[in-house]
Amino acid sequence: MAKALSFLLGLALLLGMLVAAGAYALREGHVVVPAHWRPWAAVTLTEPPGPFTRFKLARLERDPALCRSVLATTPLVWRPLPDTPRRGDCGWRNAVQISATESMVKPPFPLSCRAAVALALWEHHVLQPAAQRHFGMPVRRIEHLGSYACRNVYGRDTGPRSQHASADALDIAGFVLQDGRRLRVLRHWDEAGPAGRLLREVHQGACRYFDGALGPEYNQAHRDHLHLDRGGPHVCR
Ligand SMILES: [Zn+2]
Repeated sequence: MAKALSFLLGLALLLGMLVAAGAYALREGHVVVPAHWRPWAAVTLTEPPGPFTRFKLARLERDPALCRSVLATTPLVWRPLPDTPRRGDCGWRNAVQISATESMVKPPFPLSCRAAVALALWEHHVLQPAAQRHFGMPVRRIEHLGSYACRNVYGRDTGPRSQHASADALDIAGFVLQDGRRLRVLRHWDEAGPAGRLLREVHQGACRYFDGALGPEYNQAHRDHLHLDRGGPHVCR
């Protein structure tokens, strides 16, 4: 009994020393952990997606000032929007008006800061690299169907509010490439060629940054767009 106890005490002491040595090495900079492996570091545009990406994005929801400071480091062109008065379950808080990303977006649209950061990361790490890989050129324009709408899921009379009702969602109908070619979810989703492959790939890639990433395979209501949102359940279909 005494033997087992002293073994456990020794083990605890050893673990404690290892943790203390690790913490010291990290603090003194002897060990540099890349940003995407550090859950406590704020998310940055340039860090590759890692196991903590969605956790880091969730942190921005509780810290509006941090969210805006991260957004300021992205290529998004935006201005802050005042919070709307609450009308029922509709209206936004900590939202921004986006007038451009790395691509053109017309018309400008409101989006919560947390969803805007996810949009910037997704465009940088998923959308633009996919366009380069499949077509050898960047996306010049993102064609969207809107973000904020005070409505329930699917526009039903009853049921839960849509993430659109808090400006946490954006519907994307397609993209225009640098040479003017248009890639449309409605037209190209099922195609075996590069247009279809790009659309399916950017939908899959959106699951790493958004909570909801819904496309044509989810249901008929999404046959013509990708619905990307933050703040709802994690659904990727
Ligand atoms: Zn939607």
